[in-house]
Amino acid sequence: VIEVRGVRKRFGDHDVLRGLDLAVARHEVVVLIGASGSGKSTLLKTMNLIERVDDGQIFLSGDDITDPRADADSIRARIGVVFQHFNLFPHLTVLENITLAARKVHGWRAPDARARALELLETLGLGAKAGEYPDRLSGGQQQRVAIVRAILTEPEVLLLDEITSALDPQLVGEVLDLVRELKRRGTTIVMATHEMSFAREVADRVVFLKEGVLVEQGPPEQLFDAPQHPATVEFLARVR
Ligand code: ATP
Ligand code: MG
Repeated sequence: VIEVRGVRKRFGDHDVLRGLDLAVARHEVVVLIGASGSGKSTLLKTMNLIERVDDGQIFLSGDDITDPRADADSIRARIGVVFQHFNLFPHLTVLENITLAARKVHGWRAPDARARALELLETLGLGAKAGEYPDRLSGGQQQRVAIVRAILTEPEVLLLDEITSALDPQLVGEVLDLVRELKRRGTTIVMATHEMSFAREVADRVVFLKEGVLVEQGPPEQLFDAPQHPATVEFLARVR
């Protein structure tokens, strides 16, 4: 679904991504790990065109989204994104938050967007919250609403960046449960996280980045229990 080829990104004289290659298959859950500053968020941002690559290409279902002539809005409409800080609109209800992009960006008719959103909220255990305003929800509920908003229009890939790191520890579980459910449904996910136990559990493949380079990748059992590269060993020793 997503193919990153030789991507480079620099901020000033700092090379943040130094020639990254990464291919993500349909229905695959890929988890990015690495020290703070290793480039995880920057990589996710290049996939969503929040940051432009300096070199290399990114393909979404075969379309080169890094082509300067590509239409950024129509590409972003095919990608779901949730970041650390849920950015729900405070003056809109949960239902209005969730359906806004479906109506404005995808051109769904309001009754269709509403019906689909209610159905999704219901199946994901948030049905009772449809009419609430975000400030009446817990942080965990707000983050789950942000995820529902991101998947309403069935994006080709869902990018999740540290979606639990701003939450109180007791609220992390319900958000991770939702990610488990999305995996069960076959959603293609690329996720950056510092939660190693969750990465091990949910990932089909774990990718370790160091200083903008993909050092090592593999199934979680291999990467966590039998890492091959000294940098991976060192990183895991520090975070465990
Ligand atoms: P964390 O685990 O802390 O989220 P990360 O792996 O997501 O880290 P990035 O946010 O991708 O790391 O940042 C990689 C490097 O790029 C960091 O050194 C950061 O300071 C730098 N950087 C990121 N965005 C910018 C920017 N807009 N301007 C300048 N430097 C930036
Ligand atoms: Mg980050």
